[in-house]
Formats: sequence, structure tokens, C-alpha cells
Amino acid sequence: MEVLPVPVLEDNYSYVVVDKATRTAALVDPAVPKTVLEFLKHHTDLNVVAVLTTHHHWDHANGNPEIASHFAGIQIYGADDRIPGLTTPVSHNQSFALGSLTVTPLLTPCHTRGSCSYYVHDPASGAKAVFTGDTLFIAGCGRFFEGTAEQMHASLSTLMSLPDDTLVYCGHEYTLANLKFAASVEPTNPAVQAKLQWARHQAQTIPGTIGDEKQINPFVRAHVAEVQHSVAQAVGNLSEPYDALQILAHLRNLKNTFKA
Ligand SMILES: [Zn+2]
Repeated sequence: MEVLPVPVLEDNYSYVVVDKATRTAALVDPAVPKTVLEFLKHHTDLNVVAVLTTHHHWDHANGNPEIASHFAGIQIYGADDRIPGLTTPVSHNQSFALGSLTVTPLLTPCHTRGSCSYYVHDPASGAKAVFTGDTLFIAGCGRFFEGTAEQMHASLSTLMSLPDDTLVYCGHEYTLANLKFAASVEPTNPAVQAKLQWARHQAQTIPGTIGDEKQINPFVRAHVAEVQHSVAQAVGNLSEPYDALQILAHLRNLKNTFKA
């Protein structure tokens, strides 16, 4: 498996996922067809057969109809009937093949009710990647536009149940701002500090890993004492024992108004 990031718009990522054995490829959120098609001119040996849409927001899904007009018979996968050009609705854990790769849709609602992540496994090399859209970012998560803290907790738990060496490819380059928030929540977490120092010098911070997220991402660490105490201190009126879902909801609110 090969994953080629294609930066689009201000800070979005589209991706090209390639099965190296057969040169079969899928496009993840090709929101700006002009940019993605230009990129593909340099990879003319690829057989593009699918679009994997993470959610219906315009900056992820609006390129689908134009992409479909360029590739006859292309399958447009997604989990929300608001996705433009959708041809093939997916179900949780119902895998399909991309050449010799296996793609497993994981329903991860909350940012939108139809948010879907795609876990891709290469049985030949053992390589693993997950495309998380606006559900999981490096050191952060998406806003709860159409869901609750309970749903985000469940969705993040689904993603954290993947193997630790799974590469994480998210929908936006938000890493530096996310890590500044993470450092404010857990000032003594050495993994957060190390990643923050590293990220200051990177233009692109993808991919992360699932194992790394467990160490640095406050939104998957709402059960950790330092995170809970920090949130309680910021909010002011919480009493112990803290409820991890309540902590997660407050974390999201604090991040919404955090100035990095
Ligand atoms: Zn979105």
C-alpha cells in the first residue's frame, strides 16, 4: 500500500490510496478535482476505481460529481445520503476489496451523523492505515456538529481499538494548534511536549499513529486524571468523581474558544 497526500484548500487533505501490487487506487475526499486530477497526471499508471468519502461537508465531498465524470464506473462510497454523487452506501465493518487491499468502513458519527472512517489493510505487507476525515485529527477531534460527547467517545473508541501501528491520515492539518491545546490541558505530558516541538518544524504532520494518539490526544484521554483535573479547574464547578463523557464535552467546548 502507498498513500499519497494531496493538500487542497487552506488546510484540507485529499489522499490517493494505491495498491502497489495491481496499481488500483482510491481517492479519499477529492474535494478539489482540478488539483487531484493534476496530481494524477504524474501517476498515469493508476487505475482509479473508487472514492472514499468521509462525510458530506463541502470541503470533503463536493468534488465527487466531477471526479465521477472523469472515471467511468467509479464507485463513490460513503455513509450519508447527503454526499454528492454517492453510488455505494457503506455499512459498519462491511469490508470490500481495493485491488489486493481490504477496506473496512467504520461508522464514526458525531462531527456529522454520517461520518465514516476507512481502515485499509494490506495483507501482503501488513501495512495498516485509517482515514478519519474530521472525526479524529492528530492530537484532536472534530466539532460535535451533529452528535453528542457520548457518540464522539464511542467513535474515538472504535478508532483506538485499531492496532497501535495503524497510520492515521486525517482531513485537516490542524496538528500544531491541537498540540498547543493538548499542552495546555496536560502541561507535564512528555509525549505532548515532544510532538509539539517536532510539529513546530513540519509543514505536514500526517500520518500519525493510533499508538501515538493514545499518548497525546486529550480527547481520547478524558479518563486520565491530569486531563480531568485540568478540565475541572478550567470549568470551575465540577466535583469528583468526574464523568469521562462530561469531561469530553467540556474539552470540546474549551478547545472551541482556545487561543493558541
Ligand atoms: Zn467536516
